[in-house]
Formats: sequence, structure tokens, C-alpha cells
Amino acid sequence: MTEKRTAIVTGSARGIGAEIAQRLAADGLAVAVLDLDEGACQTVVDDITAAGGKALAVGCDVSDEESVAAAVERVATELGAPTVLVNNAGVLRDNLIFKMSVDDWDTVMNVHLRGSFLMTRAAQKYMTEARYGRIVNLSSTSAQGNRGQVNYSAAKAGLQGFTKTLAIELGKFGVTANAIAPGFIVTDMTKATADRVGIDFDEFQQLAAKDIPVQRVGRPADIANAAAFFCGEGAGFVSGQVLYVAGGPYD
Ligand code: NAP
Repeated sequence: MTEKRTAIVTGSARGIGAEIAQRLAADGLAVAVLDLDEGACQTVVDDITAAGGKALAVGCDVSDEESVAAAVERVATELGAPTVLVNNAGVLRDNLIFKMSVDDWDTVMNVHLRGSFLMTRAAQKYMTEARYGRIVNLSSTSAQGNRGQVNYSAAKAGLQGFTKTLAIELGKFGVTANAIAPGFIVTDMTKATADRVGIDFDEFQQLAAKDIPVQRVGRPADIANAAAFFCGEGAGFVSGQVLYVAGGPYD
């Protein structure tokens, strides 16, 4: 039997991150459920534990260097050296460019790009030592441009370049890096968008589904399934890829 590996999933108190954490735990990994509020992680940890898995709640702001260093060290001590990292934490600060504040720009850059950089820099130390690692970054179909998301689309496109460079730099240590670019997934994030544009969330989903080739919106499990593949032992020859999980073609 292969040894039990440790994964960190950022922003996993809810939404896509929570589903990925539960899936990786079901696949046999010990999982650090990391989010801004440690208390908010406990439900996911309890669900994992109740299902026979191993998990730890970790409070951390991924955009803060000291917070990240302390969190990753804590995971290594209490759960095991993290050799799987899913950079999932995210925020929206949507606005048209003429109304976008510098704060809204910086917040999105800090959580998605700076956060993924800080987490990866801290975790790669354990991966290169172990000569094994799996890094998955959450991009988005918005990377290809989306009205009202100049900050978010720039960050999500940036994560694709970040992923490809990680693949090149870390490959020789047995570490792969891949990105998942989801389309419309039903979470609090898409509900917040419906609220902002003033459309009922069910109606918003039905409208979105009409434009998606498979004629439905996505669920967190759709993304967790792709993440489980990239994080698996068997995916060691797949690196630097961007997988659009959007119910239709993107490239
Ligand atoms: P979500 O429901 O809003 O969850 C995001 C999580 O990230 C929240 O638990 C949030 O914590 C946490 N977070 C925010 N800032 C953080 C920080 N600085 N440090 C640590 N944790 C932080 O979002 P989601 O829909 O599951 O999205 C997950 C990822 O997929 C994001 O990267 C998102 O951009 C991407 N994505 C989502 C969709 C979609 O349709 N939902 C589509 C494409 C890509 P709080 O609750 O405390 O704020």
C-alpha cells in the first residue's frame, strides 16, 4: 500500500474547496481544510472524520506571508508533510473598469495570485524534499475575458502562466502542476453574482444552462472529480495543463 499523503486545500470551508477536500480524503489523503476562519472549517473536518478520513482545520489568510508560513508549518507538524496543494481560495470584486477601485483590483490579485504564490512557495519545500508533489490551481473560464471582471480575469489568466512555469521548474522533483478552469458552478460565489445583478438564483442557473452545451450548470463535484485526477498518483506524466471543466469546449 502507498503511504498516506497530506493535502492542503485552500478556501475549503465551503463551495468547491469543501468538495475537493472531502473527495481527496475519500481517496485516502489526510487533508488540511484551510480557510480564513478556522471555526468555519470544522463542519468539513467533522464530515471527513465521520466518513473515516483524517482532516485538520487550519485558519489562514493565503494573502499574508506570515499566516501562510505558520499554517503550512502547522500542517507539516500535525498532519504530515504536505505534498499535495490545491490553490482554491478565491474572492470576487466585480465591476466595470471605470468603476473599479484600486482596492478591488488589489484584493483579487492578493487572494488569487499572491495567495497561490505564497502557498506554493511554502509547500514546494516539502514536495521537493519528498521528490513527489501535486499542485492544482483554480483558474476560470473568465481567464478568456468576462465583462465586469477585469481584475478576476487577469488573475485567473495569470494563474495559467503560474501553473505552466511551476510545471517547468518543479518537474525534475517529481512535482506536477495543473490548472482547472471551471465554468458556472453552483456555489455561494455564483449566488453572490446573481444577487448583484438582481436575478433569482434558480432563474440565473436556468439562463446559464441554456448557453452550456451539456445544458446544465456545474456542481462542486464536477470540479472535485478533475482535482482528484490531477492529485492522483497516476497523473505523474500530466503537467502544465489547463483543463476547462465547463460543460463545453474552451481552449
Ligand atoms: P466560494 O464559495 O466563495 O468559496 C471561496 C472560499 O475561499 C471561501 O470559503 C472563502 O472564505 C475563502 N477565502 C477567501 N479569501 C481567502 C483568503 N484570503 N484566505 C483563505 N481563504 C479565503 O467560492 P467557490 O465558488 O467555491 O470558488 C472556489 C474557487 O473556484 C475560486 O478560486 C473561484 O475563483 C474558482 N471558480 C469558481 C467558479 C464558480 O462558478 N463558482 C467558476 C470558476 C472558478 P470566506 O468564506 O471567509 O470568505
